[in-house]
Amino acid sequence: MGKPKKEKKLTPRQMKQLQNFNTLRKKLLEKGYTEKKLSFDLVKANSVAFISTLPIVLVLLVLYIVVNGVDQTASGSGFMFIIMVLVGIVIHELIHGAVGAVFAKNKWQSIHFGFDWATFTPYCHCAEALSVAQYALVIVLPTLLLGFLPYLIGLAFSLLPIALYGLLFIFMGGGDAYILWLIRKERQGVILDHPFLGGCVIFHPQHQDDQSMLAMLEE
Ligand SMILES: [Zn+2]
Repeated sequence: MGKPKKEKKLTPRQMKQLQNFNTLRKKLLEKGYTEKKLSFDLVKANSVAFISTLPIVLVLLVLYIVVNGVDQTASGSGFMFIIMVLVGIVIHELIHGAVGAVFAKNKWQSIHFGFDWATFTPYCHCAEALSVAQYALVIVLPTLLLGFLPYLIGLAFSLLPIALYGLLFIFMGGGDAYILWLIRKERQGVILDHPFLGGCVIFHPQHQDDQSMLAMLEE
């Protein structure tokens, strides 16, 4: 079909997400909301995340070494570590989903997990609009729980494998950190996951002081 050049070919799942997105978007625009895209290409995001997260991870690694020194005797099972990392990657997405399900009206029914083969990135998609605070929690909690928490435990008790595990998940949370960076100045409005790109679209209400923006959606 005569699609515009370089248009990404959507999977059936993404088509469904796009339909759902367009329905909600139309409702919001009809209610006078204005939209602002905070989405990005996953390939581009991965490189931005890589460049911005790596220095933080290195600083934390140096901090660990300054505090605990380099313990040459620290040896664990590399195989076990890899298994734990793979489990962690699944748990990371599950935490996104669980927090989203807590806030979504239709709970887990509004949450979908998938894997983007083009960028080799697992993802979690929420089909409902969330407030800025709710959305920020969905984004930040996996990296707090699987990244910063193990790192701090490892730092405090001189447990190198635990600290490294945390650092790895801080590093892998770079894409999420990028989303947080994009929404850092947002206070009002509701946020929808982008149907097929990384990031999201924020809708600002006409009246910035309206307290019941989410309620309006449910009419
Ligand atoms: Zn994530």
